[in-house]
Amino acid sequence: MRRERPASGLRTLRRLAWDRDNGRRHLVLLGCAASLLAPVVPLLQPLIVRDIVSGAEQQRALLAPVVLLAAVTLAEAVLTGAQVYLLKRLAEGVVVDTRLALVRRLLRLPIVEYDRRRLGDLISRLSTDTSLLRSVISNGVFDIVSAVLLGIGSITVLALIDPLLLAITLSSVLLAAVALWTLMASLRGISRTAQEHVGRMTAEFERALQGVRTIRVFDATEREYERVARRAGDAYRAGLRLSRREAVVQPAVTTAIQIAVFMVLLVGGYRVSSGSMPLGDLVAFLLYLFSIVLPLNQATRALTTVQVGLAAADRAGEVLEIPTEQERAGAGRERGGPGPAGGGGEPAVTPHMVEFRDVGFRYDGGPPVLSGATFTVARGSCTAVVGPSGGGKSTVLALIARFYEHGSGTIRVDGRDVRELSHEAVRSRLSMVEQGAPVFAGSLRENLRLGAPGASDEELRSVLGDVELGELLDHPDGLDRDLGDAGIVLSGGQRQRLAWARALLHDHELLLLDEPTSSLDSETESRLQRLLRSRRAAGHTTVMVAHRLAPLVDCDRIIVLAGGTVTAEGTHASLLRDSPLYRVLAAHQGLVDVEDLATP
Ligand code: ADP
Repeated sequence: MRRERPASGLRTLRRLAWDRDNGRRHLVLLGCAASLLAPVVPLLQPLIVRDIVSGAEQQRALLAPVVLLAAVTLAEAVLTGAQVYLLKRLAEGVVVDTRLALVRRLLRLPIVEYDRRRLGDLISRLSTDTSLLRSVISNGVFDIVSAVLLGIGSITVLALIDPLLLAITLSSVLLAAVALWTLMASLRGISRTAQEHVGRMTAEFERALQGVRTIRVFDATEREYERVARRAGDAYRAGLRLSRREAVVQPAVTTAIQIAVFMVLLVGGYRVSSGSMPLGDLVAFLLYLFSIVLPLNQATRALTTVQVGLAAADRAGEVLEIPTEQERAGAGRERGGPGPAGGGGEPAVTPHMVEFRDVGFRYDGGPPVLSGATFTVARGSCTAVVGPSGGGKSTVLALIARFYEHGSGTIRVDGRDVRELSHEAVRSRLSMVEQGAPVFAGSLRENLRLGAPGASDEELRSVLGDVELGELLDHPDGLDRDLGDAGIVLSGGQRQRLAWARALLHDHELLLLDEPTSSLDSETESRLQRLLRSRRAAGHTTVMVAHRLAPLVDCDRIIVLAGGTVTAEGTHASLLRDSPLYRVLAAHQGLVDVEDLATP
């Protein structure tokens, strides 16, 4: 199931910087050209200055060389500016594209991927890792390119002066290069580990902030701090390991050059004294040799940056390579487009809005949650699913909404096998009040309009009245009222009613309700039941999961789910008669006398 291809940072980078459709090739090419030319131009200045000086001595006309000097100076400024701007612009473009690509994908992953991952880690990939990408492009790659070119230039000059001494130099530099290569390869791994620790630290911190009240009450602040601190410590240690490697890399290069210099002095000195090499050549050779120390050091530093950036690109690339919900379902099988009737020449109206036939399901590697679950939900009915906690009731709703792919059997929604419908087509038929439905940071209006972006303020006010939330409009800000992070300004009951309002506005034929009245008083609950009755009268279907039986007694059909299969179904009255499990549930909730438990 899980596609674990090792993500390639280089592939990700190439895709973002070089792919034709990104329109960045010209930036890459111009940036490279500017990086190459910018250091070359100043080399001309001394030559021109020499011309001017000797021209002045000989009292020749100076206009031409002075103009040339001005032009060269200006060209240098322009090229340096262009190099900085083009590369930064390229880097920013890659960073923003990576972020957008990550967000686009992170919003569309199959639900099971969120179960597998820590939110904080995903967020750190989006923020920290993408920032690390920036330095690869704006500093790393081009430092290497210009250093390599300078290196090639120096080697050519050295070869012209004395090929033998060059061979001696290169053998020493090559030795260092092999050692460096091994060290560099490990840098990417270590950097990757460091970034993973940062991801874990963010995840721990997020966990702590989310549960800050509970943490206070349980006096666990210090322990939570320590959890985060442990992760920070891990990241610190990985950072130190990285620094130790870098500390070896830099002097290794300098030492290699020094060894080369000693050997050149030794061999060159011998040759000079034996008269087979002019002293001037040896001096020139050594001077050029010293001049490649700087670019070599610059290249090693840049290589380190690139390794860190590639590790970050690996982590971003890993997310970018997780198939989205749609991709995983396979575009080829999606036949029913969004829309209430589906299409495909099938009958528009089937008697069953939902049908489970022998459905088996387990969460990612867990034990079976449903096995052989079979039931139908008649169109236009109100059907309840009850049973002991952990029996798989919420899972049934999750499978109807196609948050997960079921294992065996068939699930039909609106007469269509859900596997033949796109996720959008299934969801375009339904609306939902989840258990603990989230309130989003933002205004009341934004929260209500989530599924009904075109709803007018009038409609919003009216639906707030329907769910007994009219009191929220008494606030001076009305619909603009900011509900705070996760709707912190609302009570539990208000949050639940807001979820109802949202679901009613996003009005669809099938309404899924998961413990939708758990935080409501009985008055609100009966008001909402009236709403459900009017939905039923309009031919709409409701599937409700609830722990408490009282709100379900007038449902058309009640399904008892236990141990992942349907053990009984019927009406409240018939189940009281026929289902021992239902009778136990009813008795525990005071709906029937405990003595009744004895009667069959
Ligand atoms: P109910 O709604 O009847 O209380 P659920 O459908 O929520 O039961 O859960 C059924 C079983 O599936 C439980 O054992 C629960 O631990 C497990 N489960 C629920 N959600 C997940 C999930 N996202 N990942 C793994 N296991 C889960």
